[in-house]
Amino acid sequence: MASILYEVKCPCCEWSVFEDYYYKTGERYIICSRCGLDYKKLLYHTDEKGFEYREEINGGHGVFVLMKKDGIRVSTRLNGRITDEELEEYKSRFMKDEVNQQESYLVSFEEGVFTIILGTPPEGFFLMCEEGKTDNEFVLPLENRYNKRI
Ligand SMILES: [Zn+2]
Repeated sequence: MASILYEVKCPCCEWSVFEDYYYKTGERYIICSRCGLDYKKLLYHTDEKGFEYREEINGGHGVFVLMKKDGIRVSTRLNGRITDEELEEYKSRFMKDEVNQQESYLVSFEEGVFTIILGTPPEGFFLMCEEGKTDNEFVLPLENRYNKRI
């Protein structure tokens, strides 16, 4: 199905992200690699009356990114405040031999504040989108917001 990619601000952390907009159905998808927001607006068939939109929101509490030495990147979106048990699990996964600790990080996002818990996020991670540099893969340019087509 055809879709258009729009550049929008993440509704959760205001970073510059892409929204995948399916113009035939009005469905929208946003995934933010900074705060981990996973937003979907989906069209559901209800009954004979027709259709309705439902929003599904997951994540938005931060991300845990493990870069392994073999180049495989494993990204986990946090669905809530990190519990003590989760933190212990993340720490043990982070410290494994197969992990490149220099390029891995655990960052939480609570009440508008990012906190680095483990590792080092990539350069540009904490820039707001207006300050973003276009040569940084994590910060996307805001120009051409309405004419990106695929
Ligand atoms: Zn975000």
